[in-house]
Amino acid sequence: MDPFEDTLRRLRETFHAGHTRPAEFRAAQLRGLGHFLQDNKQLLHDALAQDLHKATQLDSAFIRKEPFGLVLIIAPWNYPLNLTLVPLVGALAAGNCVVLKPSEISKSIEKVLAEELPRYLDQSCFAVVLGGPQETGQLLEHRFDYIFFTGSPRVGKIVMTAAAKHLTPVTLELGGKNPCYVDDNCDPQIVANRVAWFRYFNAGQTCVAPDYLLCSPEMQERLLPALQSAITRFYGNDPQSSPNLGRIINQKQFQRLRALLGCGRVAIGGQSDECDRYIAPTVLVDVQETEPVMQEEIFGPILPIVNVRGVDEAIEFINQREKPLALYAFSNSSQVVRRILAQTSSGGFCGNDGFMHMTLASLPFGGVGASGIGRYHGKFSFDTFSHHRACLLRSPGMEKLNAIRYPPHSPRRLRVLLVAMEARGCSCTLL
Ligand code: NAD
Repeated sequence: MDPFEDTLRRLRETFHAGHTRPAEFRAAQLRGLGHFLQDNKQLLHDALAQDLHKATQLDSAFIRKEPFGLVLIIAPWNYPLNLTLVPLVGALAAGNCVVLKPSEISKSIEKVLAEELPRYLDQSCFAVVLGGPQETGQLLEHRFDYIFFTGSPRVGKIVMTAAAKHLTPVTLELGGKNPCYVDDNCDPQIVANRVAWFRYFNAGQTCVAPDYLLCSPEMQERLLPALQSAITRFYGNDPQSSPNLGRIINQKQFQRLRALLGCGRVAIGGQSDECDRYIAPTVLVDVQETEPVMQEEIFGPILPIVNVRGVDEAIEFINQREKPLALYAFSNSSQVVRRILAQTSSGGFCGNDGFMHMTLASLPFGGVGASGIGRYHGKFSFDTFSHHRACLLRSPGMEKLNAIRYPPHSPRRLRVLLVAMEARGCSCTLL
């Protein structure tokens, strides 16, 4: 019998029911905590004295953002320039030395980064390291002061395990399956335009692309002709000859994706050409949750549609799975969009559009749970690559003022001390 099981289940159920989310609930809990301290002052004083002989004080402080030191940045192949340079900006801006490990799969960018970039930076603080899994594994045996990894959850675990050996902090920017809910109360053509654009962008090889649609069977019937119309307008009658449609990065990924075309029933597209690593913009219907296309991140131009009866079932479907990097909801009703936002969790969220939230430097970008740890972009990048050092500087003089905190602690001295601390805005006087 596990002594913790009941307690943990109870707390998780409360969390999933949404009880802890309203502001009033949180304020009430904090008020309760304040009352606990107030009502039990003497009890706590006595207990602290018994345990630790303790009476300390808080003071005003400031935060000094300092570089961590030697940072390792590991990048994937799908946006090989952006996903190396954007973290690099943050790491350099914060004052770190950097080892950059681009993906060995996007070979051409890897070559340019290795041969050209070091000429533009001070080589005493910057290096590009090349290699695939084996070399990266070897690199990870070394101690770094921070590791910033973008890639798959599988390799993310390898990186985190290696980092744990040295207690090195990490940012993990990972992937997964991003749901996209389409409400019955929508204009199907507007939804189809936006969904087709951001699903087939870069041939679907985008970590924040919608991985699958959730909608009612009725909405599916309205969406299919609208999606077909959007695909034809964007890529013409023969998408393979369109200059606007990307190709799959390599044969391995192509074979993986071509196998996924066998899931469910092809409603749109479905063609492929191995010599050209081409997969047509595809929509699948009648897909079973147990099929591979619903079990793994698709990362290609294939969009399955899963039927749900409405928003409640959509929320349940989303919450039964790992927390995604991005979550999308389309509805003419802002209440529906806000409900999905409030009752789910994801790295980022965008209502009535695709990954536009990711393009704003004012918003942090990152996952939660299985989709990642940490955040960056804009100012958040600087903060990610900085240690937030808590500092207190005090005057060497005015020793008489300090005398009240030194033992022996007479009741009168303690009273004066507590009054002085409360006057300075220290909400907790018992720590
Ligand atoms: P990947 O995890 O296979 O590789 C990423 C990096 O890790 C590469 O530099 C690679 O050389 C290295 N690597 C691979 N295997 C390794 C191993 N065994 N040990 C040590 N290092 C290893 O990912 P990928 O195929 O390059 O990229 C696709 C994945 O990245 C998708 O899951 C996608 O969602 C995710 N991604 C996430 C973001 C984000 O910002 N969250 C952005 C782009 C891609």
